[in-house]
Amino acid sequence: MRIVLLGAPGSGKGTQAKKLMADKNIPQVSTGDMLREAVATGTRFGLKAKAVMDAGNLVPDEVVLGIISERLGQPDAEEGFILDGFPRTTQQAIDLEDLLDELGTPLDTAVLMDVDFDVLMKRLTGRRTCSLTGKLLNVYFSSQDELDECTNAGGELVQREDDNEETIGNRLDVYREKTEPLIDFYQQRNKLTTIDAVGTMDEVYDRLLNALS
Ligand code: AMP
Repeated sequence: MRIVLLGAPGSGKGTQAKKLMADKNIPQVSTGDMLREAVATGTRFGLKAKAVMDAGNLVPDEVVLGIISERLGQPDAEEGFILDGFPRTTQQAIDLEDLLDELGTPLDTAVLMDVDFDVLMKRLTGRRTCSLTGKLLNVYFSSQDELDECTNAGGELVQREDDNEETIGNRLDVYREKTEPLIDFYQQRNKLTTIDAVGTMDEVYDRLLNALS
């Protein structure tokens, strides 16, 4: 199964990709996670990428393409992958198509995760990660018990640096301008499936499985 999860920041791509990865035994390939790892290493490239990401802008196409071609060439991606956060521009989508053509492994589907703007804002501003377990939580949507479980165990609810309101506004603008055109791109290739991504994690996951079946 080779799929792209398409959707605005906060549409739940990462959450659903992780569930699907565990179920189907294929890797989640998140350019955002890989870039954050590069930033954490503190290299010169990492510092440059950090400035771009902190502002909510996009890292250059050729940089992410390099990361993706290396990742998709690894053995665990042979049976498939879930792309999360890539492609984000038409150029990236074209590059991905070329890369998969070369590998002889075309994309099966691009799933658009559809979410209203108001929900996106709450998901993004409320998003936290437990510093102990890495579990994704949300101060608006997680139960108090779930939040307490992290803090009572000595963990902290950490907010991503680019999840502040100003950067979020820019990330949503960038999404509309640069990434939304991919909806047409995949529609024209008969590869687009849209799911309603508002609901509980399990409800959305069921819709995702239906869309993929
Ligand atoms: P994400 O975790 O997917 O929200 O990505 C966080 C940030 O990483 C984005 O706001 C961009 O700055 C950068 N990034 C992630 N994926 C891409 C991509 N495919 N193209 C360009 N920049 C990206």
